[in-house]
Order: sequence, then structure tokens, then C-alpha cells
Amino acid sequence: MTIAVKNIHKRFGDFVALDNISLDFPAGELTALLGPSGCGKTTLLRIIAGLEHPDSGQVLLDAEDASNRHVRERQVGFVFQHYALFKHMTVFENVAFGLRVKSRSERPSEDQIRRKVKDLLELVQLDWLADRYPPQLSGGQRQRIALARALAVEPRVLLLDEPFGALDAKVRKELRRWLRRLHDDLHVTSIFVTHDQEEALEVADQVVLMNKGTVEQLGSPEQVYNHPASPFVYGFLGNVNLFHGRVHDGVMATGDASFEVPDYAGVSDSKGTAYVRPHDLEIDRYTQGAEGIVVKLSRAHAIGPLAQLDLQRVDNSELIEAVMSNERFSHLQLKEGETLVVRPKRLHVFVEPTRT
Ligand code: ATP
Repeated sequence: MTIAVKNIHKRFGDFVALDNISLDFPAGELTALLGPSGCGKTTLLRIIAGLEHPDSGQVLLDAEDASNRHVRERQVGFVFQHYALFKHMTVFENVAFGLRVKSRSERPSEDQIRRKVKDLLELVQLDWLADRYPPQLSGGQRQRIALARALAVEPRVLLLDEPFGALDAKVRKELRRWLRRLHDDLHVTSIFVTHDQEEALEVADQVVLMNKGTVEQLGSPEQVYNHPASPFVYGFLGNVNLFHGRVHDGVMATGDASFEVPDYAGVSDSKGTAYVRPHDLEIDRYTQGAEGIVVKLSRAHAIGPLAQLDLQRVDNSELIEAVMSNERFSHLQLKEGETLVVRPKRLHVFVEPTRT
């Protein structure tokens, strides 16, 4: 099923939670709604589900206006961060619940229910827990059961609100890979809310970056990460160094250094800020006349495959974060306090609009 929202506007009192949002969610794809706390992700998800009503705008399911359809008629399955499984019911009964409460004409037979629940528990790889009660499960197991329960009624849309938010980092990582594989098997149009950029980039087919009730960018993980549409997106999707300066005909001057910015050839004398990720900096020992930003190595943390370096610019004392392979770090034998030179291998410059 395709999902689309058109010109959705939602206020809570004077506060604008969603400001004219229009988005398409293609059939069978997994979309991540990503953004900082309070940007409106959950509100948008609840509006799509029919749990919340927009002040204006439409929700389209398979191109039909579903704005006035009841939650039940929208055929959505939910999984929330703290999904309350029924504590007094076994895992089996929890998953069977949605089937048992169907109207008599739609309710499957006891045999069909048993087979279906068994299949679903196998799908989430927890069939061996069928007779346990929720308090006897780990957090990760509970979320997988919650997902099996949501899938039992064969939803046409799956909505997940920070489904792994309450779990520790290692379990989260395992479950997000697992969710991706499950989605590849089932192809149910799915939307999941997260404020974790790594999770969104790893799992989703498309990412919607939200900020203060608006959409900053929609694109594939590759597009939003490598071609961020705004400084906000750049900053939100990972650590970044900012170099302030001026751009003139393809060259950016920042402090005592300057470097080429080919895409900005033709831009004449504008204020600009270069955004450079820590691993996109080339680092060498300083030699007289070397081109680039001259820095002092204030701290190096070299454990595992990567060395993380804290650098301080000599010209303006600003701090720079850099990452290089530990192999290269050991090869160069860099010491704290040494003078180095850094050059961006990859950067994106946002130029301030010139006033006319
Ligand atoms: P988080 O990641 O923290 O869950 P979110 O992006 O999901 O945040 P929402 O839950 O959609 O954000 O909330 C958006 C804004 O609307 C927040 O500022 C929130 O305080 C406000 N809000 C949400 N629901 C209500 C409500 N029922 N009444 C008043 N304000 C609300």
C-alpha cells in the first residue's frame, strides 16, 4: 500500500507541531522519520495511523483519501517503544490476541489461529518462547513478540515508534539488522520513528529528516548523508567540523588557509561555512610551506581500527575533530603537541545568501 500525506498542519494550542507537511511513502518500502526530540515525528505517525487528527491536510492510503477512516479501517499494525504486552497472557496468546478479537465472520478457526501464531513466532525466531509470560522475556524478545503481534492481523502498513529505543546499544544493533531482513521478506510498507541517525541510515530505504515540524530533506540514506540539503541535515547526520570563511571563485579562505571548492566556482566573495566530517580530513606532519590548516595535536585516542584526534587550529584556536586509520596513525608516529596540517578531502560549503 502507498501512503501519502498532503499539506498536514497540526497545532497543540499555540504550538505548531507540524507545519504543512507533504510526503510520499512508496509501497513496500521502509521509511525512517528522523529528527531531534520534539520535531513532530510521533505526531505525524499518529496522524497516519488515525490516532490523531490534523487541523488540515489529508492522509492518502493507496491514493484514496483516508482522513476520515477509523483507525481499524486503516489496517495498520503498531509497535511502540514500550509496547505493553498483556502480562497475564502467554506469548502465544499475546500474538493470537488480534485474531481472537476479530468479528465472528472474520475470525479464523482455532486451528488456523494456532498455525498462524506458530508461523509468526518462527518468523521472529522465538517459537521456543510460546508458553512464557512477558515478564520472563528480555527487552529485545518482548519487542520481537510485539512485532509478531502487530503482524498477526496482516496489516497493510506497519508503524513503528522508536521500537528499539528502550534497549541497550548492542541489542538495538542486532534488532535493527533483524528488522531489515524481516522487512525484505515481508515487504509491508513501513514507517519507523527514530532519533538515532545511524539506525535510520542503516535500516531505511528512504529517510525523512524532520526539524521543528517541517521536512528538511527526503532521500535515500546515501543521498541525505552525502548530499545534505541544509546545514541542519549535515550536522544531524554525524559529527562535523565547521570552517568559517569567505568563498571567492571556487576558493575558500578560512583563517590563514585556503582550499579549492570546485562546485562553487563563479561564486564571488560570499561568506561561507565549510562542513567537513572528521574522516574526510587528510592529515600530515607539518612541513614549511605546506598547504592546509595548521593545527596542534592536542589529544589522540588510538584504540581499535580508528584513531580519533583532537586538533587545535593555530590561527584561531578552534577545535577540529579528525579520524584516521590506526594503521596510518602508528605509521606516522604522531605525538601529542606536534604541529600537523589538515586538508579536507571532501567538504560541502553552504554560502550565505548575498543581499541584493
Ligand atoms: P520525541 O523524539 O521526543 O518523541 P517527536 O519528534 O516524536 O519527539 P512529537 O511527540 O511529535 O515529537 O511532539 C511534537 C511536539 O508537539 C512536541 O513539542 C510536543 O511537546 C508537542 N505535543 C505532542 N503531543 C502533544 C499534546 N497532546 N499536547 C500538547 N503538545 C503536544
